[in-house]
Amino acid sequence: MNGNVILVGAGPGDPGLLTEKGRRALEQAQVVVFDRLVSPAILALIPAEAETIDVGKEASHHLVPQEQINRILLDKALEGKRVVRLKGGDPFLFGRGGEELELLEENGISFQVIPGVTSALSVPAYAGIPVTHRDFCSSLHIITGHARAGAELHIDFDALRRTGGTLVFLMGVTSLPRICRGLLEAGMERTMPAAVIERGTLPGQRKVISTLEALPEAAKAAAIKSPAVIVVGKVCSLSDRFDWFSRLPLAGKRVVVTRPADRSGSLTERLRCLGAEVVDYPCIRTVPREPAAELDRAVSELSRYRWLVFTSPVGPRIFFDRLRAAGKDARALAGVKLAAIGPKTAAGLSACGLTADLIPSTYDSPSLAAAMTDVEGPVLLCRASRGSSALPELFQKRGIPFTDVPCYDTVYENPDPAPVRDLLAEPVLVTFTSASTVRGFAESLSGADLSSVLGCCIGRQTAEEAKKYGIAAVTAKEATIESLVECIKEV
Ligand code: SAH
Repeated sequence: MNGNVILVGAGPGDPGLLTEKGRRALEQAQVVVFDRLVSPAILALIPAEAETIDVGKEASHHLVPQEQINRILLDKALEGKRVVRLKGGDPFLFGRGGEELELLEENGISFQVIPGVTSALSVPAYAGIPVTHRDFCSSLHIITGHARAGAELHIDFDALRRTGGTLVFLMGVTSLPRICRGLLEAGMERTMPAAVIERGTLPGQRKVISTLEALPEAAKAAAIKSPAVIVVGKVCSLSDRFDWFSRLPLAGKRVVVTRPADRSGSLTERLRCLGAEVVDYPCIRTVPREPAAELDRAVSELSRYRWLVFTSPVGPRIFFDRLRAAGKDARALAGVKLAAIGPKTAAGLSACGLTADLIPSTYDSPSLAAAMTDVEGPVLLCRASRGSSALPELFQKRGIPFTDVPCYDTVYENPDPAPVRDLLAEPVLVTFTSASTVRGFAESLSGADLSSVLGCCIGRQTAEEAKKYGIAAVTAKEATIESLVECIKEV
């Protein structure tokens, strides 16, 4: 049976601007055919098993000719695959989406189109330019500034001037002087506000705001390169007032996130929303113990324990998996008190329908142990195999019987260090959410000079570990992701 093709618009670059529907299509794809302008964070959503085909094209010298791209889509669909054709911005706006559908339609291949957020609207928005405003214009025109190889630019500048509307040119960097000259010759005011925005919606976004007459020189002086959007019209005069993107608290900051990939989502997303350039560099991963003999034994003897202690959100999940495997449920915990090291771990418990009896005011092991003052009877500690010694030591000192059950191992991911090594030449912020992320980070970069790294650490123990590796460290006020984000804002 034939497969199908979904044409997906990836948006202008900011991964948050991929649509929900586009994301779902990508997650279910078996083959993804993508362009140069699709950002790495979006490519990271492609399932590991999917085949990826890079047909990225540069203006004028296409890496893969259009006919061949059309053919690839057809062939993969004929193989029965679910194919996603991922294109920058919106697939139908100067994206050749229409051309790509023709061959599919001729061959009876079923297809869908998922529109994307176009750079023509979103890039000006990220530069503080509303493409229309009632005080200034009543129409918007999107024009390609790309001339076919060897051909002249065919733009009716007179007609464009007469509209009085906002003009947005895509693919226009090379033709910028020609475009501005054309509009001036058609009689547009020299002082008409105009802008060019490079790498819009991305952390490296740059903009040049000028007048129609001076824009080519100003863009040249700033060495503006493709991809860039050119905007001509009075609305450009609002750009400084409405410039929200470059005023974000983390604008211009580069942050490496070392959290495990499956949990990094929220931290990465938050930092991106605050304007940071985030490099995901997962250094560790937690793997449930298999077989879970010690945990299974503890589960079978649950009634012996008076307290159950969790030190990370994965703990409750793993514990309840084993509880269910033993044919039991939450009722087996009647009479057992529950302690969680912090609010996220407590949330892990509530996901299992239970409320923590105790959360220390500072979210670390020493504080948890100190808070467990009126503990009577044996404690069951469900945590990582190489957890800190603070809890066991305190229980020992106080003569509280406890069983320390390793529920999961923390393994190093050994990510490819090359991209992060390159970043070390300049000051760079690195988030550490546990001592093991520090070790995983330092081990993966062994031998590298870490003096440019400022470790943003979730708690005291993590910061101490960073210092052991010669990494300067700042510590979040509270051991939560929210507080870590605040700490990054302040450095
Ligand atoms: N289909 C795309 C446009 C493809 S043409 C869309 O809807 O956005 C490619 C042109 O889009 C580039 O030459 C540039 O003008 C513009 N462009 C795409 N992404 C951009 C970005 N992040 N910043 C600035 N311009 C961008």
